[in-house]
Formats: sequence, C-alpha cells, structure tokens
Amino acid sequence: MSTANVAPEVPTTHKACVYDKPGTCSIAIRDVPTPAPGPNEVLVKLTHSGICHSDHGIMMNSWKTLPVPTKTGQVGGHEGLGHIVKLGEGAEKAGVKIGDRVGIKWVSSAATVRKPEARADLCVLLPAPCTEGLEGLCFNQRISGYYTPGNSHLRQEQEAAARANSPSYVTPIPESLPGELAAPMLCAGVTTYSALRKCGASPGQWVVISGAGGGLGTVATSLAARGMGFRVIGIDMPGKKESVLESGAEHFIDLTQFDDASIGKEVKKLTGLGAAAVIVCTGNNRAYGQALSMLRFSGTLVCVGMPTGEQVPIANAFPSTLVQQGHRIVASAVGNRREAIDTLDMATRGVVKFPVRTVGMSELQSVFEDMGEGKITGRVVLDFSSA
Ligand SMILES: [Zn+2]
Repeated sequence: MSTANVAPEVPTTHKACVYDKPGTCSIAIRDVPTPAPGPNEVLVKLTHSGICHSDHGIMMNSWKTLPVPTKTGQVGGHEGLGHIVKLGEGAEKAGVKIGDRVGIKWVSSAATVRKPEARADLCVLLPAPCTEGLEGLCFNQRISGYYTPGNSHLRQEQEAAARANSPSYVTPIPESLPGELAAPMLCAGVTTYSALRKCGASPGQWVVISGAGGGLGTVATSLAARGMGFRVIGIDMPGKKESVLESGAEHFIDLTQFDDASIGKEVKKLTGLGAAAVIVCTGNNRAYGQALSMLRFSGTLVCVGMPTGEQVPIANAFPSTLVQQGHRIVASAVGNRREAIDTLDMATRGVVKFPVRTVGMSELQSVFEDMGEGKITGRVVLDFSSA
C-alpha cells in the first residue's frame, strides 16, 4: 500500500475491462494507457470495484434516456475504491494527498468544479442542484464509467489505476473497512440511503423494498432495518428470500405468488393499513405499477430503479386516488457527498450487512450475463488482487 507523501511508481498502461461491443453483453480485457491526472484531478490505484446493474444498462445501451450511446472501449464501473497515487495540478487544495484511501462514485464531478466545457448559462444559475446537495441532478455532472474513461475495473498486474475528475468528489474510505464492503456503499449504499431519507417514514413504520434481493435491494433492506429503524417487507423472486431476511426484512413476499391486484392486499394484510413508503429498487415497470396499492394513507412511493427500454408511465397513478389517499410519488437519484460519508460510517460500524462476493476481472463477463437474467443476489465486487 502507498504511504502518505511517497509518490508510488505509476505504470504507463494497465489492464482494463472494456465494453468492446456496446449494445451486447461483451467484455474484453485490454491494456489501456494509464491516464495522467489533469488539473484538479487525482489518480487512484483501485483495489475493488462494485458491479452495479447500471453498468449493465450502460454496456447494453438499454437506457433510452442517456444522451448518447456508450462508446466502444468504454471502461465501466462507478463503485471503485483504492489509494491516491498521483495528484493533478491544484488537487491538493481539496485536502487530499497521495496515499489517501478514497472511493469514486457515479457522479465523478459536478458543476461545483468549473470545467471548461461546463455550460456557463446553466451552472451559474442559482439555485443549482449541486449547491443544494443534489449533485445527482447536476446539469453538468460527469458519470463514472460512461462519460469518464477509465474510472474503474482497471488493473496493471497487481496495480490498478483510475481517474476521478475532481478530488472534491472522491469519498474518504476508512482503512478499517474491507474493500468489498466499502465499494457497494459508493452507489448502492448512498443511493438507497438517500431514497430512504426522502421516504417520509418514521422509525417503527413499515417500508416495502421492491426488488429487495438485488444489490440495491439488500443494501436498502439493511440500511432501512438496521440503520434507520424501519420495519421492512422485502419483495422479490423466491430464490432471494433467505438473503432478504438475512439483510434485515421481517417479511418476504414472493412476487410470483401474487398478481398486480393481490400483492397490495398482501402488504396490507401484513401491515394493517399499508406501508408508509415503498422504495422501488428494481427497474421493472410492473413493480412501479404495483407499488401505489401497497401504501397507507399519506404514504410515499420512492422511484429509484431505472426501467430500461421505451419509457412507460407509472400504472395506477390516478390523480383522484392520489388526492384521496394523500399519496406522494418522489424520486431519488444517487445521493450527495455527505450521504456517501454517512453511509460509509454505518458500514464501518457494522450496521450494513448484505450478501457480497468477490470475483476477478476474468469473471466479469459471466457476472453481467447472470445480471441480465436477474440471477444476482446481493452485490458482486471485482477484487483486483485476484485474476
Ligand atoms: Zn450503481
């Protein structure tokens, strides 16, 4: 490991997992040039990178709302962590130094860092999302593993490197937290923690996690039940029941046993009036259509999972019913820097427990194949120390 103030040797190339045929499930392991950190950038030698369903969506070009198709050779990943090995000009002003253990999130930079290409007409307008703790909505945000080349999934022999566009956007990672537990906090953790903070439920109230067995879902279940004191009902496919209950849910609903009308009744049977909030972590349009029927009066549907393909409105979102029930529909996009630090603090204290397994770069292809078929339970994390 690097030690502070001793600049480690930085390789000129490193191995990377790249999307060699975007639009298909295809990964190639290639030698790519190691980027030199530009002004206000840091170079990070990665040890771990979590594999998120959003990476799959970017690889497959399945999100119609992204502005441009993913380019061939894009290096994916947005849950990367490691140690800073090189500072770009001026980066030290953000309070980072060589040897710091940091994480790289979905938002690698936002308009609080003035990039030359930033649209001045947007980012000088106040209030702006990034000045209100909502950098996930920033007009000029850079997304790791989509806009930004080489942010994760990299390795050079035993070394890995990545570039974060802004040192103020890297997240400090406590040295005591194992990398495979820290990496999922950088997207799944902060995203679901931010969504739970917006859900309006109080400790002791029921919260439904839809898609509770996936990477976001198991982390959400754990944060909701153990970190925030909610009573959790998890919904997913039957094979994920054990993991959902182990993550902290009191009840599990096997979605294959219910239709769109009866699943809401099942939630009301378990809760009495219904749930105070439903967090939809899956990108399944049908799950969104079912969610409103699970809510109690004044309950909140929080949209988190991004459906792929053509956009479909939320079924059953009838204005008169929303008014009569006092329901709210809100959305949450990743989370802010403060929430990332809070989430990592909970992970370090052992609050967040969820299924996680590590794989080497050569296994990334098969992980994505399983992910496309909905077979992944919990989080899979690339460990760059293994082949
Ligand atoms: Zn993600």
